[in-house]
Amino acid sequence: MGIRSKLIAFTVGIAVLAAVVFDGYVVQTLGAELGEHTEADLAARTALVTEAVARTGDLEAEAPALAAALAERAGARVTLIDPRGAVRGDSSVAPEQLDALEDHASRREVADALNLGVGRGERVSKTTGMRMLYAARRLDRPDGPWIVRLAFEPVAMDRSLSAAHRRVVEGTLLALALAIGAALVGSRALSDRLLYLTEVARAMRGDLSRRARVQGADEVAALGGALDELAESLVRSRRELGGEGERFGAVLEAMREGVLVTDERGDIVLVNPALSQLLGVRRDAVGRPPLEVLRSASLHELIEEVSIARAPATREIEIAPAALGAAGPPGRRQLVVNAAPLAIPAQGRGAVGVVAVFFDVTELRRIEGLQRNFIANASHELRTPVATIRASSETLLGGALDDPAASRDFVEVIDRNATRLHRLVNDLLDLSRIEGGERRLSPGTLDVAEQTEAAVALLRGRAREKRTTLHVDVAPGTLVAADPRALDQVLTNLIDNAIQHTPDGSRVTLRAMASSGRVVVEVEDDGPGIPAEHQARVFERFYRVDAGRSRATGGTGLGLSIAKHLVEAMSGDISVTTGASGGALFRLTLPLGKAGAGRAAELRHGRAQLERA
Ligand code: ADP
Repeated sequence: MGIRSKLIAFTVGIAVLAAVVFDGYVVQTLGAELGEHTEADLAARTALVTEAVARTGDLEAEAPALAAALAERAGARVTLIDPRGAVRGDSSVAPEQLDALEDHASRREVADALNLGVGRGERVSKTTGMRMLYAARRLDRPDGPWIVRLAFEPVAMDRSLSAAHRRVVEGTLLALALAIGAALVGSRALSDRLLYLTEVARAMRGDLSRRARVQGADEVAALGGALDELAESLVRSRRELGGEGERFGAVLEAMREGVLVTDERGDIVLVNPALSQLLGVRRDAVGRPPLEVLRSASLHELIEEVSIARAPATREIEIAPAALGAAGPPGRRQLVVNAAPLAIPAQGRGAVGVVAVFFDVTELRRIEGLQRNFIANASHELRTPVATIRASSETLLGGALDDPAASRDFVEVIDRNATRLHRLVNDLLDLSRIEGGERRLSPGTLDVAEQTEAAVALLRGRAREKRTTLHVDVAPGTLVAADPRALDQVLTNLIDNAIQHTPDGSRVTLRAMASSGRVVVEVEDDGPGIPAEHQARVFERFYRVDAGRSRATGGTGLGLSIAKHLVEAMSGDISVTTGASGGALFRLTLPLGKAGAGRAAELRHGRAQLERA
């Protein structure tokens, strides 16, 4: 039932109730008043009639005629009752029928009048069959108390009452019609406004910027105002929540550490992009247990432990490549996982969610391993010459000094090993300076032809010893951006290696050319070359294809490692392949030198020389 129907029903109900009450009240009061008035009137008329009757001499004889005459004048039925209770005259009964009337002494008004002097009554008359009002008076006469009774049929009064009743009903109907009309109009306005508010509230679900803006100061306007305030506060909280959510999301997106969150059931609820990338976790991981997604028993145990103990824990785990999907990065990842319980307020007691932060320490652990290896290798490299020196010096001190021929041999051994130690320590220092960034390179524009020529000139003596021929094939004017000392060190090392690791009478060729914005320098020999499986590793520290041979020829195993560091520090790269003749072919690529810069450098150089001269 709509509010309009209710309002109309209510109005109609009120109107009908008011009409009934009003009608009852009016008819009642009016009836009572009219009744009182009529009764008083009847009593007065009875008194007058009684006076007239009192003046009559022979009442018994004149009663019938007197009754008729007085009735005419009093405008009421007049009954005269003798002391025995018999009716002696009645204006409504013919005199000859009077004897048939019953004894009237028992009538209430008659009995009252006999006792009290006056009496009244109201009933349907047995004689006339109408509703009658009665008034009686006692008239004391010598023969005893007569009763003068007047009866009045209150038709006028009844008519007035029913007229009043009719008016009330008519008035009620009119008022009802007016009330319904007013209710219709009033409820229409009210229900229209309420319908409008309902429509606005519904629209707010989709568009929180909608406002009711109801004018006025009544309850509907207040409801509209409350609705607008509600929307306003919703907008505010949505903005705050949104802002917080966005910030949280942005933090998770930006984090370089992987983040995994599980709920109280132990299922994944969140994986940030860093973790997805790190472990190749796909989007559909959400809702599944971490064990199923990452297949790491250690991680599963860690999450269980934190969830049950409700205390943070850290563990280093390794996730095997088999656990990673096709999208995952290759290789085993070494991860430090910090897991902490995540209290979810709504969940109450029992198991809790866990937030796990993953730090990828694969590279760190690899470097640590390299360092450990390096220290072991370096110690090993140092131990041999030191042990040899010690053994030789002990032998000398133990008596060999006295044998001049033997002592010379031992001193030579000591000298060779000391030289080797010296070279090793120098190379190690060099390496650590380059790696630690202590050795600053200042690349300038250099002429490759000049650089190669200088390096070759330095090693020509050693080449001659091994009957190695050195060929240089560099176009003059090929400019490279490099640090002169570093480039010299690299070239010397490559040429020295080519002489060292090839049989006598070999041939070493140096080439340089500019190619697509870079300068490519090649050092190729026709020796045994480096087997493919060793080619990538010869640049590692202490890595040698044949350690014994390298040591015997005085190599430290650090030359190529230093060369690689230097080349990379000059924004270049170095690699080795097998040349056409089967020998080793080292190729280094460096940035092209700027022609202008080269000429400027030459000019500066020339001016400096002139000044000195
Ligand atoms: P080393 O002091 O032993 O020469 P390097 O780092 O310079 O150390 O070289 C590492 C290893 O690479 C050498 O021990 C050798 O086995 C191999 N190698 C380097 N250059 C050549 C080459 N031109 N021909 C064959 N093998 C080479």
